[in-house]
Amino acid sequence: MAEMTDQQKEQQKEQRKKELAAEAKSQKALLKKSNRQVAMVFDLNKCLGCQTCVVACKTSWTRDEGMEYMWWATVNTHPGKGTPRDWEKMGGGFREEEPQAGQLPTVADFGEAWDFNYEEVFFGGKGNTVHLQPSGKPEWGPNWDEDQGGGQYPNSFYFYVQRICNHCTNPACLEACPRNAIYKREEDGIVLISQERCKGYRFCMEACPYKKIYFNHIKQTSQKCIFCYPRVEKGVAPACARQCPGRLRFVGFLDDQNGPIYKLVKQWKVALPLHPEAGTQPNVYYVPPISPPRFDADGNIDESKPRIPTEYLKYLFGPDVEPALATLHAEMAKTKAGGKSEILDTLIVYEWKNLFGPFTKDPAEIEPRKV
Ligand code: SF4
Ligand code: SF4
Repeated sequence: MAEMTDQQKEQQKEQRKKELAAEAKSQKALLKKSNRQVAMVFDLNKCLGCQTCVVACKTSWTRDEGMEYMWWATVNTHPGKGTPRDWEKMGGGFREEEPQAGQLPTVADFGEAWDFNYEEVFFGGKGNTVHLQPSGKPEWGPNWDEDQGGGQYPNSFYFYVQRICNHCTNPACLEACPRNAIYKREEDGIVLISQERCKGYRFCMEACPYKKIYFNHIKQTSQKCIFCYPRVEKGVAPACARQCPGRLRFVGFLDDQNGPIYKLVKQWKVALPLHPEAGTQPNVYYVPPISPPRFDADGNIDESKPRIPTEYLKYLFGPDVEPALATLHAEMAKTKAGGKSEILDTLIVYEWKNLFGPFTKDPAEIEPRKV
């Protein structure tokens, strides 16, 4: 048989490369496939900033060794640097469908887990003279810039933004994983990281534009929000949503036309994804905040422009925030004039069960399960 020329060898190599790339693409497509999608909607107008959701998540899932600094659910003040610090500037995601390089957040960016002087206060007999405080001098934490916000008095403003992994339809984390350790569940679209397959390369952490993945330095694997799937499987809402006293965390399937998620996102279009330009198609949506009134130099109400700059809300939620706010204002005007508003009634949530679509079982009805 005649020997191949260099040119033929080169062509063969190119051909093999193309085949491998096509194979990888179809494997990724399989990992991304899901028949249904669970989603959450957060109404930013109702959050108290109480952090109950954050603690509910922490006590449910991140108490093991190596997870001390992890907060899969966070609530941060906006404008602010957030968690991890300046995550919005760290890149990742897609541009024109091409994956974008992103920065790897460090433990310092998230904020180390603080130690407290429990021994001294509770067992050292100094309870009357010493107060509970972090040991050492922490320089950053998951809620460091709480309630600072932006703007100038008397027109300063802030609001709370609740964040979990967005269980994206086009997850940048999944795309970036060379081990195919990240996958979407077919039955509900929850994005999980296989702890057996993960080798701790952390490409997912660089790729996620929301920086919602943590690295477990003990297990040497990447870990993140699991949308409380053991609860969801039994018809119980995720812990963050079930515990929220503000009744602002809606849970359900995106295609359930009778559920609040479908109505708020698809029908009324008043709930929008955060930073949609990152191209991951998040499945967590936000009802944008309604501005309080502005005051002019004489202390009179100035209705010429909103106190929360529209440009800032467009930065967070994209251009669709303007029609969403217009709809909300129109509904408020309607009720002020004595009319009824199905949108506002949905957002008020008169019955807690109205938040959760098919996930209304009581947590006490289920057996705890170790994952
Ligand atoms: Fe992956 Fe980040 Fe999307 Fe979660 S938010 S699915 S970690 S890209
Ligand atoms: Fe906001 Fe509810 Fe979380 Fe409290 S529990 S911080 S009200 S989302």
